[in-house]
Amino acid sequence: MNKGDQTNTEEVEVRDQKFIVEYIPKEQIAPAFGYAMQKENKAFVREDLPLSIKRFVRSHELYHLQDQPNRGGWIWSEVRANLIPGLRDPIGLIETIIATLTKERLRFYLDRFKKGCYKTAYM
Ligand SMILES: [Zn+2]
Repeated sequence: MNKGDQTNTEEVEVRDQKFIVEYIPKEQIAPAFGYAMQKENKAFVREDLPLSIKRFVRSHELYHLQDQPNRGGWIWSEVRANLIPGLRDPIGLIETIIATLTKERLRFYLDRFKKGCYKTAYM
């Protein structure tokens, strides 16, 4: 049910809801891997990531779009968006975790943790 086109965007239909996934250059969001804009039903995923990580980040951000973001706070929304897609794609989850074990990525998460970033769901 996915429809790709030349503009690096993909339309995804999940349970009668339509979402847009846009693949964007690393420079635009690094060290983040992706983010979701719930109001717009749109997710962004870095195009440079290895396939298994890109696939997992895509599932993660699509999960955010279907989730109730403030249920249990942003940390729980992250836990859900990792665990539930992770059950279907454990390899993708593990590879994404390994790719996150860099100073730059860990600092990014620590910073988010301090600021309590929940308005935009970054990964
Ligand atoms: Zn997330």
